Amino acid sequence: MPLYEYECIKCRKNIEDSVKKLQKKIDPETVSNLVEKYDNIHYIEVTDLGKNKTLAKHGSRDRDGIELDFYINEGNTRVLFNTKRYRFAELIYDKDDEKNLKCYCGETKQIERVVSSFAYTHDLSTNMPKPDLSNLPPEVRARTVISDYIEEKDRPKKNR
Ligand SMILES: [Zn+2]
Repeated sequence: MPLYEYECIKCRKNIEDSVKKLQKKIDPETVSNLVEKYDNIHYIEVTDLGKNKTLAKHGSRDRDGIELDFYINEGNTRVLFNTKRYRFAELIYDKDDEKNLKCYCGETKQIERVVSSFAYTHDLSTNMPKPDLSNLPPEVRARTVISDYIEEKDRPKKNR
């Protein structure tokens, strides 16, 4: 039986829209409006990484939620979200099962299947999947280099 991963479009869009709003304007009012407006967002905290200062925060973290980081203003500002989970896996026995999907937010319609994070790991012989660095803080990401490992047989032969 195939196990598929799904994502709630509505939850994801709420987060994306919030990031877009905060790219235009960051103040306590904007942050609290976003937390109040979107049901799936429990908490937002905006930090100026250069000054190591919290610019705004609102809401309260939910222990069952997930935390997501976004970096705006060329990586100088971190936006941390605590939100309801919106990605989940379901065993699908037949086509009709997809009609019964439900996100943690209660959404049942705007749900899409996403490519499973396990899908590309079957063939380990050639290209190893690289870890996703997009969620690392920019300071860390800048120092993290993942280079291609070249197998012995593929290395250029030394001239003698
Ligand atoms: Zn949802």
